[in-house]
Amino acid sequence: MANRNLPSEKTPKQGSAQDDTRVTTPNPTPAQLALEGKENHSSNSKLVIKFWGVRGSYPVPGPKTVKYGGNTSCVEVRNQHHRIIFDAGTGIIGLGDQILTEHRQDQAPTAQPLVFSILLSHTHHDHIQALPFFQPAYLSQASMYVFGPQLLGYDLRESISETMNARYCPVRLEEMNSHKVIVNIADTDRLLFQNSNKVPRVITARDEMADLHQEDLLVSIMHSYAHPKDGVFVFKVQNNGHAVVYATDTEGYRGGDARLIKFAQDADVLIHDAQYTTEEYTDVLHSKQGFGHSTIDMACEVAEKANVKQLVLFHHDPRHDDEVMQKVEAHARRLFKNVIAAYEGLEVHLGP
Ligand SMILES: [Zn+2]
Ligand SMILES: [Zn+2]
Repeated sequence: MANRNLPSEKTPKQGSAQDDTRVTTPNPTPAQLALEGKENHSSNSKLVIKFWGVRGSYPVPGPKTVKYGGNTSCVEVRNQHHRIIFDAGTGIIGLGDQILTEHRQDQAPTAQPLVFSILLSHTHHDHIQALPFFQPAYLSQASMYVFGPQLLGYDLRESISETMNARYCPVRLEEMNSHKVIVNIADTDRLLFQNSNKVPRVITARDEMADLHQEDLLVSIMHSYAHPKDGVFVFKVQNNGHAVVYATDTEGYRGGDARLIKFAQDADVLIHDAQYTTEEYTDVLHSKQGFGHSTIDMACEVAEKANVKQLVLFHHDPRHDDEVMQKVEAHARRLFKNVIAAYEGLEVHLGP
């Protein structure tokens, strides 16, 4: 089967990708300081990972979550040429504002096309709920690519569109003015973001990869079935010999999720669901087993067995305020040498 070349925008403008948007929260923990200190010099990094929403299930604003943040899932991975957004929880609202600010500053004749891709792990509320509030989606000169699974057999566009019908939302999907390309993908597909082409390509398992360059971004997919009702996509971004794995909303197995351990083997960064403490997970009266989320210990076990360089705990339980999160992070540091609990504004830079 031939490569599925996606339609391109006729009058492209370029999306600007800048390396200087570091945001820090007040009073970072020692682990955060170490990470920032290590990465801070890398303004010429090839790959930037930025956390805009780190919370699972529902947003929790307020004075008890200012340190780690209260927004639901959204992680940006970008290089000089492409911007990939994992999930559209409420964290995507701040990212949208950032994209608009950059776009307004970049109106020169040589301006880059405004193109971005949203990769959805699945379509539970906390991963799509802020799409109607993502301002760049309303720009007629923007191109928005959305990729995700066809869970329970439902077309991805239909799943998103349903949440934006007039009964639930003042704006219909069709009323967002950007050029929208919404694509069902399978775990046998890969996504190729070439430096020479603003338009991403879907590559099926049988396609030749002859024109792949190290500098291009390649995204591969693992379908985890450890999340109700039809699982979740885990994504791996590879670029210049580096790998970042985004594994949210997935429950661990005894001895570690073997498929995930293989998929994430030797990755530079593993972003892993770590919603519960072991005590919460195994509580006899209010057990969280089967809910489709991991414990901190499960995330650390996968990181250890996959030999990843950096583990980022993610999809924090909304009931875990800053005080609990600090304890969570301290506990995790006893289990895995290089771990940090994701917080809004955290950036990790990879590259030369
Ligand atoms: Zn979730
Ligand atoms: Zn979910």
